[in-house]
Amino acid sequence: MPSASQNLYALLPQIGELLERESIRALERRYSRAAVIEAARTVVAEVRREIASEDCDEDFVRFRIGHLEDAVQSRLEEDMRPSLRRVLNATGVLLHTGLGRAPLSPAAIQHIAEVAAGYCNLELDLSTGERGRRDDHAEKLLLRVLAIKSSQPAEDLMARYAAVVVNNCAAATMLVLNSLAESGEVIVSRGELVEIGGGFRVPEIMAKSGATLREVGTTNRTRLSDYERAVGPNTRLILRVHQSNFRMEGFVERPDLQALSAMAAARGIPLFEDQGTGCLLDLSDYGATPEPTLAQSLRAEVSVVAASGDKLLGGPQCGLLVFERRFAEAIRANPLLRAFRVDKLTYAALESTLRSYLLGQESQLPLVAMLAATAEQIRARCEALAGRIENSGLRVEVVQVESVIGGGTSPGALLPSFGIALTHPSQSADQLSRRLRAGSAPVLARVTDDRLILDLRTIAPEDDTTLESALRELASHE
Ligand SMILES: *Cc1c(COP(=O)(O)O)cnc(C)c1O
Repeated sequence: MPSASQNLYALLPQIGELLERESIRALERRYSRAAVIEAARTVVAEVRREIASEDCDEDFVRFRIGHLEDAVQSRLEEDMRPSLRRVLNATGVLLHTGLGRAPLSPAAIQHIAEVAAGYCNLELDLSTGERGRRDDHAEKLLLRVLAIKSSQPAEDLMARYAAVVVNNCAAATMLVLNSLAESGEVIVSRGELVEIGGGFRVPEIMAKSGATLREVGTTNRTRLSDYERAVGPNTRLILRVHQSNFRMEGFVERPDLQALSAMAAARGIPLFEDQGTGCLLDLSDYGATPEPTLAQSLRAEVSVVAASGDKLLGGPQCGLLVFERRFAEAIRANPLLRAFRVDKLTYAALESTLRSYLLGQESQLPLVAMLAATAEQIRARCEALAGRIENSGLRVEVVQVESVIGGGTSPGALLPSFGIALTHPSQSADQLSRRLRAGSAPVLARVTDDRLILDLRTIAPEDDTTLESALRELASHE
């Protein structure tokens, strides 16, 4: 084969010659000359490697050499495409960490755009002209919303609690443990030493915070008396962790939040709840199993509570930390707060999200719209879409499915829904799934029993036409 290879190398153009070709020079007007040179070199080097690897036959190599100009163009398009792209979520998982959790409301998006385009009063009090705190933008609003949701006078709640915003719930938890329990002990039930999606492990956060974990009870049962016996001179906090992503059944017991809070108060130990979901909604309004809410935490008078902004709250990624004012100095003066702080875009999105709750306009949050969509409405959209792609070459069927709320809600938090099941005469569901992900509008779906299932609950109705185009693109491909 060496002589054949030698001949093939001779067919490759010089880079300089390739760059002079009309179609390549046209690319320089869209991309930079440097980018075009880089792409041409990469593409030619690829073909060289193909010639060297003897498993490419001569016809293939000649074909590649004949299409170098197209290859340079494709390479540039691929390199210049943003890495972070919009995808359509047809998985039926409303809060999908891999897909960025909660989509934001139009009001939040507009607020982000306004704040991002120019300067803003992030740390400036406009009435005095003096330096302000960035948390002022969220603190009062959050406490007002919590007051409404927990049916308490706002003044009372504000007199008792303060709040800060950090990067996520994991950061909020770290900040509390480090600010209030460094070098001391934190009592936790063995049933709550959990790992939450994305590698959040309670014992590891605890170790990094400098606090010592004091485990009580057993995996399935922890009683109030277990906590009481563990309280000692070094106890700084009792930690309660929402058992978000799993469910224990059978011979299980743990004190309810109210009882734990009363016991902690009687012993003079603050109760810190890692609430997780940030839920302010009554999920039973949407036909799902209710989840513990932030309002319940405040009614139980926990001393400190941490939650995510982008789970059931339906806002941007952030961690909300509400704490009794006696801890304000310890938390605000901790350099970790500086390290965990969020930017102006997060405050803009959070403020608009909270304002939707304050105005009773939760339905403007995409998460709430997805929860509220009825199975019948989703079925009608599935049928319309199925009708439009019926003759495309894909076999289409409308099927009953169950959407999953996800994002730290109990695994039983399901909603009846409808979806489109796709099969192809010559391609497996996995192949369809891969191609749908790689399309110009990437779509994520699930594969069940060798069928590709697209749950329309997690697709906004205004995106149905985009989904239709993606399915046509899928069908048109042989
Ligand atoms: C999701 C969750 C976390 C982690 O939240 P992030 O905002 O992703 O850091 C921590 N604790 C509980 C109980 C959770 O549900």
